[in-house]
Amino acid sequence: MGKNVNQLTLALSKGRIFEETLPTLKKLGLEPLENPGASRKLVIGTKNPIVKIMMVRASDVPTYVRYGAADFGVAGRDVLVEQGAEGLYQPVDLGIAKCRMVVASTVNFEYEDVVKRGTRVMVATKYAKIATSHFAGKGVHADIIKLYGSMELAPSAGLSDVIVDLVSSGATLRANNLKEVEEIMPISARLIVNRTALTTKGSLLRPILKQVEVIAGSF
Ligand code: ATP
Ligand code: MG
Repeated sequence: MGKNVNQLTLALSKGRIFEETLPTLKKLGLEPLENPGASRKLVIGTKNPIVKIMMVRASDVPTYVRYGAADFGVAGRDVLVEQGAEGLYQPVDLGIAKCRMVVASTVNFEYEDVVKRGTRVMVATKYAKIATSHFAGKGVHADIIKLYGSMELAPSAGLSDVIVDLVSSGATLRANNLKEVEEIMPISARLIVNRTALTTKGSLLRPILKQVEVIAGSF
């Protein structure tokens, strides 16, 4: 589908990325013809007959774009840093789906002391690479425990000392008796583009990219 030179395919994920990209899609004349929340379809047409939207898992967006199955997409910085962004052109920070990658622990855990003493830290996270390089950079010995969701449960369940996860308001942390102890990086969603498509479909893609830059710059 991404291979057809007269068509463009945009990879998006359901939920906040789709919802927060919607205003930009409307301004671009790429309003989806169906609501992916209600529809079971994974490929949705837009008001522009040459552009289709492909609904994929948030962490799969870079994969579709890297292999050219989608020409462009919207992915969180968390996913891009964790997976690496080789082969992807990242022209625009969309400034949407903003949150922070943090280290969090139970409220009574003495994180600073543990770091100073050089004690080993058990870290539960979906972001094994980001967590590994964060703790390596601090000279902290970290045992990484890979999880796929509900990270907030791990410290109180006794699985780990800390978690590395995304936080926006902090309400989920508080509801689970956790506190943020360190920020690792700010997160927002980026437009990502397949490098080959930029050449083979440049006449279709470049005008859209240019418009997105203008829209993102006006936030
Ligand atoms: P799934 O829910 O299917 O397991 P996911 O958790 O990666 O996948 P979303 O929850 O939709 O999917 O998150 C998609 C992206 O939105 C993340 O990669 C991140 O960049 C951003 N994001 C995640 N949590 C928040 C948050 N609390 N506030 C703002 N943006 C967030
Ligand atoms: Mg989620």
